[in-house]
Amino acid sequence: MKVAVVKESAPGERRVALVPETVPRLVQAGLEVLVEEGAGDGAWFPDSAYIAAGAAIANTADLYATADVILTVTRPDEASVGKLRAGQTVIGMLAPLIDPQFARELAERGVTAVSLDGLPRTLSRAQGMDALTSQANVAGYKAVLVAAEAYGRFFPLLITAAGTARPAKLLVLGTGVAGLQAIGTARRLGAQVSGYDVRPASKGEVESLGATFVELTSPVSAAGEGGYARELTAEERDAQQAELAGHIARHDVVITTAQVPGRRPPLLVTADAVAAMAAGSVIVDMGASALGGNVAGSVPGQIVVTPNGVTIIGAQNLPSTVPTAASNAYSRNISAVLLNMVTDGALSIDTTDDIQAGVVVAHGGEVVHPAVSKLLSEQQPRPAPAPAPAPAGAGPGASDVPATSTEGGTVVDRAGH
Ligand code: NAD
Repeated sequence: MKVAVVKESAPGERRVALVPETVPRLVQAGLEVLVEEGAGDGAWFPDSAYIAAGAAIANTADLYATADVILTVTRPDEASVGKLRAGQTVIGMLAPLIDPQFARELAERGVTAVSLDGLPRTLSRAQGMDALTSQANVAGYKAVLVAAEAYGRFFPLLITAAGTARPAKLLVLGTGVAGLQAIGTARRLGAQVSGYDVRPASKGEVESLGATFVELTSPVSAAGEGGYARELTAEERDAQQAELAGHIARHDVVITTAQVPGRRPPLLVTADAVAAMAAGSVIVDMGASALGGNVAGSVPGQIVVTPNGVTIIGAQNLPSTVPTAASNAYSRNISAVLLNMVTDGALSIDTTDDIQAGVVVAHGGEVVHPAVSKLLSEQQPRPAPAPAPAPAGAGPGASDVPATSTEGGTVVDRAGH
């Protein structure tokens, strides 16, 4: 069976689905690994490293013509989809719950689609396959560096001959995987860190990292299914926003990561909360997406400086900005998913398996994933191909904060990282 690693097609995407280190594991399982020319360049893995690891380099046409399985990080663009043929399998972060029509398109082409974002994350044997977690870890780490760079002061307490600098007060809103990594990273940089989440279980996790948990006087307990949060009611949301505003105003840096599966990201930092922050404060909105973000006035992929001097960074695809580490982790995740589906050197689709039931989206000409087919039955077919909105910090899209904005304040131009 030929397994191909493609060069990512999303603009600015620097990750690669498989790194040279993982190639021998696939070869030992009887698989032949083909790598599209230059696929690893953005993550600093030259073609020569893949050859040394036992892979062959192929040009785009040969690769699509001969591959049985195609490994990708984000979903392929329309041109790449056009090259797929019936019987091929695509494995990647295909975001079928964000764009179920894409899953239908692959099914209609006879392509088997396997999406790592559907993995049952709480299964212990799936831990090594959890790309949402591995990429959220990278994103949480990088969000802190992006904030530190934009912040005009130090993060740590510094006592020097020229005076004492107080540590930055940093607040993380949403303390799932990315938020906890942001807390750990900000603590290592010396900031004074607080965290807040609607899931009661997160209090202990925040405190175990040495940060302070922010308790609201109108506490909302919004633990949903599978360890995720549920969407708040309008009343709960209003109370939360009003009370959080006071905490936000007392912080120099705020990083937001809040997500609710299948819903638009909740708004946690209102325009009033931003207006109450001191000049020089920085907000990184990891929830920024085409669906709206956690912060009023954030624009995905852009930096806005408000009239009161608050820098709002609409972070987008942060994992791509730490491409080597993100690719290393993703490569282990995707190879584990692939090997879980291989029997005697061939792909064996079996949706009675817990893991496959979560990740196999399309097979045999049908959309087989129940949640995706449900969405499709509720939707009209899309009129024209549309790019998927980038999920927080981990999805397809351009680099993190490259562009400028004219909305909501002065514009700051900034190169991607
Ligand atoms: P996520 O990306 O879905 O959301 C990020 C955080 O935002 C979550 O902690 C969520 O509670 C929080 N949030 C949502 N709405 C909010 C609101 N209105 N106000 C404040 N915070 C809000 O979450 P995630 O990082 O993917 O993690 C989700 C859960 O899954 C966590 O409980 C995590 O520990 C768990 N998880 C478990 C495993 C495992 O068992 N191996 C692996 C990964 C994640």
